[in-house]
Amino acid sequence: MHHIQAMQRPKAGAWLTVTGNGLHCGPGGFHIDPARPVERAVITHGHGDHARPGNGAVLATAETAAIMRSRFGDQAGRIETLAYGAEKRIGGVTVKLVPAGHILGSAQIVLEHGGERVVVSGDYKRRRDPTCPAFEPVPCDVFITEATFGLPVFRHPPAEAEIGRLLDSLKVFPERAHLVGVYALGKCQRVIALLREAGYDAPIFLHGALQELTALYQAQGVPLGALADATAADKDAMKGAVVLAPPSAVDERWSRRLPDPLTAVASGWIRVRQRAKQRNVELPLVISDHADWDELTATIAEVAPGEVWVTHGREEALVHWATTHGINARALALTGREEETGE
Ligand SMILES: [Zn+2]
Ligand SMILES: [Zn+2]
Repeated sequence: MHHIQAMQRPKAGAWLTVTGNGLHCGPGGFHIDPARPVERAVITHGHGDHARPGNGAVLATAETAAIMRSRFGDQAGRIETLAYGAEKRIGGVTVKLVPAGHILGSAQIVLEHGGERVVVSGDYKRRRDPTCPAFEPVPCDVFITEATFGLPVFRHPPAEAEIGRLLDSLKVFPERAHLVGVYALGKCQRVIALLREAGYDAPIFLHGALQELTALYQAQGVPLGALADATAADKDAMKGAVVLAPPSAVDERWSRRLPDPLTAVASGWIRVRQRAKQRNVELPLVISDHADWDELTATIAEVAPGEVWVTHGREEALVHWATTHGINARALALTGREEETGE
């Protein structure tokens, strides 16, 4: 009697497993974006739910290394950098970092082992972002994707149009400071870069909490134009100016230093809605660094994987979409993924 099971191929990507510390690559002996300190980590990007202090050896892009050193100091680990597109052999695995288009330094991790290719995309988006190279689709056997905005209701407008709304408001209210809440890593610098692209060349004022990472972007070669310290600035100098601050500072005592502030927040779809409702945000700007529903599904179609594994976010709808399109899909229960830092 034949035993069909004995002839089946091993499960795709069986050499990648989920441990208590996150995604683990057995033949390479490393974790990807571990939730707790590990001996050997490969890091997709610098947001706090992916890059953490206390690891032993770390592999990342030079830009992510700079971000980790800035945030964690000597707790950043022994970081080895790998340029986009370069390959490195670790144990029985070939590792390559490919642009993810999410924030400065963000990478997809392309792993090859035993004739299989697995792509761990980390966080990503497909929209243009002047602060980092665009996402590169890599055909693969297993595609591991986020699903922060993994519901058909999430469709982000063009970021350029949202920046246009901010510029229009500056024309309508030339006496009011326009206080925009932005996350310190990624969103802040993207908003500045988009304003510059739209031709806005006045100095942009920054809350102290945004200055270090913004200076890091400039040092890494991202042009952001003239920036000024909002805390040290004269109140009158900020009339009709753009002032960026962390979202928490928008409705705090800090904002009282500004001339008649008009409050805005730049964030992904849900956060903007929530914040606008909870607080008096007059100008919600939907500017997301995550793929929306159309970008998620278009990306899966493009990389045409045999299997999709969905990490953090709203896994169910995306798993269903993939399954109905003939792609095996499942949700990975990874711990420690928050959305606090970068949506
Ligand atoms: Zn994330
Ligand atoms: Zn992120």
